[in-house]
Parts: sequence; C-alpha cells; structure tokens
Amino acid sequence: MDRTLSGELRAALGASRAWLAEWVEEGVDAPATPGRKLARAPVAAEAQGDLLAATHSGPRPTLEEVRARLGDCTRCPLSAGRNTIVFGDGNPNAEILFVGEGPGAEEDKRGLPFVGRAGELLTRMIERGMGIPRADVYICNIVKCRPPQNREPMPNEIAACRPFLDLQIDAVAPKVIVALGRPATGLLLGRDVSITRVRGVWHDYRGTPVMPTFHPAFILRQYTEENRRLVWQDLKTALARARGGA
Ligand code: URA
Repeated sequence: MDRTLSGELRAALGASRAWLAEWVEEGVDAPATPGRKLARAPVAAEAQGDLLAATHSGPRPTLEEVRARLGDCTRCPLSAGRNTIVFGDGNPNAEILFVGEGPGAEEDKRGLPFVGRAGELLTRMIERGMGIPRADVYICNIVKCRPPQNREPMPNEIAACRPFLDLQIDAVAPKVIVALGRPATGLLLGRDVSITRVRGVWHDYRGTPVMPTFHPAFILRQYTEENRRLVWQDLKTALARARGGA
C-alpha cells in the first residue's frame, strides 16, 4: 500500500476510534462482549511490587518519590508524542482524589491535568458544586501522556501507567476516589462498564470507596440540566463520604 494512503488510513482509523470512544463514553453502551474484562496488565502487579520496593521504604510512598520513579518515562509509545508528562496536581493529602482519562492538548502544553475546557468545568464542579478549593483535592489521569487526537488510551498504555496511578493513590491515601467517565471507572472497577449504569453508586478500589460519575467533557457535549444535576449529586455524595457522612 502506498505510504500516503496508509498514513491517511491510520489517521482516519484514529479519528473513528476517538468518535467511537466518545459515543461509547456515555449513553451508547459498549458493544456487548460477554465476559470481556478490561485489560489488566499481567505485569502490573509485579511491576508495582518492584516499583514499591524501589520507590520508598516506608508504608506509603510520597508523590515526589512516585514522580521521581516515573522519571522521563518511555515505558509506552505515548511518550513519543508528548510535550510534557502530566503527573497530577493538588493536595498530596487530599481527602478526595479524581481520576480522569488522559491529558488533552492544553494539559500536554502546561503539564497540569484538567486545565482545558473540561478542566475549567471540573474546577467549577469542585469549587461551586462541592464548595471546596480545587487545590484541596488531588487530580490525576489513567495515563500521564497525551494520547494522539485525544483518543482513548490503549490497553498497553494503561498497563504501563497503571502502577503509577496505584502509587499515587497509595501516596495520597484519599478517603474517596471520584472516577470521571467510563475509561477511568472501567479501570478501577476492573471491567467494562456503562457509565450511565454505574454512576452514582459506590464501588471499591483496593479498599478505597469509588464514586463513578460523568466525565466533564461529556457534560460539555451534553449540557443538559439532568446531566448536570446527576454530577452535582454524585460529587456531593462523594464529599459527604469523605467528610465522614454516608
Ligand atoms: N484533561 C485531563 O487531564 N484528563 C481528561 O480526562 C480530560 C481532560
């Protein structure tokens, strides 16, 4: 096949994947593949064991130790296209930790999670909805490097980054995790999910309560009163639990 054509085909495929991911993200359920589990890296647990041993000597790593261990990462192909590693942002002792999907263009430029349009909405959701400063929570993503064309991260990319997400959770030790959207929720629950079905319901990730909710990018696309109401509700429920309530 001639090179231009195969390049175009690849670009078209990438774009279709991104669209599909958006559709599947909310409303349209993932194709029914009975028994399909989200790829959980067979090496992740082992890698995490090594990382934990190599990263810190105490019961909990610090975020600085985890960041240092991540280094100038080239563990997956996303590293080739990134400007900056987007590690995470916020209070290292936060009661609430948000997990998104992956950096977008603005995040890749600035090295901070959720600072583009979706990020502005997330910030408003935290500050106006939950009534706490954004700096009080901790925010990170499944993958730390921007996927091309903002497509969903691939299983090998997630597998490479997952130990670092786990270590970030260990470091912050939040009382509650808020999973933003289907990919983050699926990863933490260990299975494909329909976010419309699981949002608003408590789950558990390695002993920490997880509240799945809609991704702010979805809310921007489907800016309905109902969707906004549901997210506010989920965030308030998460805050109440973090503060010792139900
Ligand atoms: N920005 C992020 O950092 N993560 C997302 O999932 C979306 C936008």
